[in-house]
Amino acid sequence: MTHQSHWTFGASTLQRIIESEECLLSPFEIFSDCTQEHLDANRDWLMPRFQDPQTGILAITIQSFLVRQNGLTILVDACGGNDKERARPHFHRRTWPWLDRLREAGVKPEDIDVVLCTHLHVDHVGWNTRLENGRWVPTFRNARYLVAQREWDYWRTAGPAALIRTGDFVTDSVLPIFDSGQAELIGDEHALKGDIAIEAAPGHTPGLSMLRLRGGGSEAIVCSDLMHHPLQLRYPRWSTRFCVDPTQAARTRENFLQAHAGTGRLIFPTHFPSPTGCTIERAGTAYDFTYSGETKAQIGRQSRD
Ligand SMILES: [Zn+2]
Repeated sequence: MTHQSHWTFGASTLQRIIESEECLLSPFEIFSDCTQEHLDANRDWLMPRFQDPQTGILAITIQSFLVRQNGLTILVDACGGNDKERARPHFHRRTWPWLDRLREAGVKPEDIDVVLCTHLHVDHVGWNTRLENGRWVPTFRNARYLVAQREWDYWRTAGPAALIRTGDFVTDSVLPIFDSGQAELIGDEHALKGDIAIEAAPGHTPGLSMLRLRGGGSEAIVCSDLMHHPLQLRYPRWSTRFCVDPTQAARTRENFLQAHAGTGRLIFPTHFPSPTGCTIERAGTAYDFTYSGETKAQIGRQSRD
C-alpha cells in the first residue's frame, strides 16, 4: 500500500522524507515498564504493522519533515545521516539515499532556509552535516539551524557518559553548525511565521521542541519524540530508557494527549510507522489513534510495506 506522505494546511505543505522504516528495538529495550502481558493484550493491532511477529522487535521509522510555505523551506530534523562513526549498527557508516529523496521532493540542500533540530539525539541530527574532503561540513549551507537554548545547555555540559550508547554525534553533527555560525539558539516559544510556531515539550530531552502548523481550518503538530511508539497511547505513562527525565516526559505526554485528543488535529510523532500522521481520541483511561487517510479498523491489518 502507498501511504499518504503529503499534507496541506492552508498556505503550508508538510511532507515526510524517510531515511529508514524498519523494526529496530525490542519493546523491553525501549520501555522499562513493558512486560510480555502488555504486548499480548495489544497483539491484535500491534502485529505485523507495529511489531515483528517473528522477533517481537518494534517498528521504528527514522524520518524528517519538510514544511514549505510561500518560498520558505523548513526541515524538521535530520535523521541519522551518512558515513558517521557510531556505536549502534543501524547508524554506523551508512549510505542512505536520503538526499535523493529530498531532491525527489523538489528540494536541493541549498534550498533549505531553516533546520529545526527538535532535540540533539543521534537519529535527529545526522544530516546536519556531511563528509567533504575528510571534514564534517553543514549539509544545508544557506540554513539557520534552530536549537532550543535548554537543549544546547544540556548537551554542552552532559559529558561523555551521555554519548556512550550511540557514539559521539555532537562532535560531527552538532558542533560544525555552531562553528559555521549557522546555529541559532531559541527560547521555549518561537514563532517562525504567524501560523508556524515552535513549542517546548521537555522531558525526553530538556529542550525537546515541536512544530505547530495552522492553516485552511486545520492544524498539525510535528511532536518529535514526545512519543516513540503507538504503545504509548495505550500506556501514556511509559517513558523510554533514553528519556533524560522520564517523569517530566510522562507529564508532558499526558498533558499533550489530553489537550489534543478529540480535536481532529493531525499529530506526527517522528518514529510512528507510515503514514505517521494521526488523530488521537480518548479511549477509557488511555488513548487510541486513527491514521491519516485510514479507518481505525485498518490500523492492525496493514503490513509495513
Ligand atoms: Zn528519536
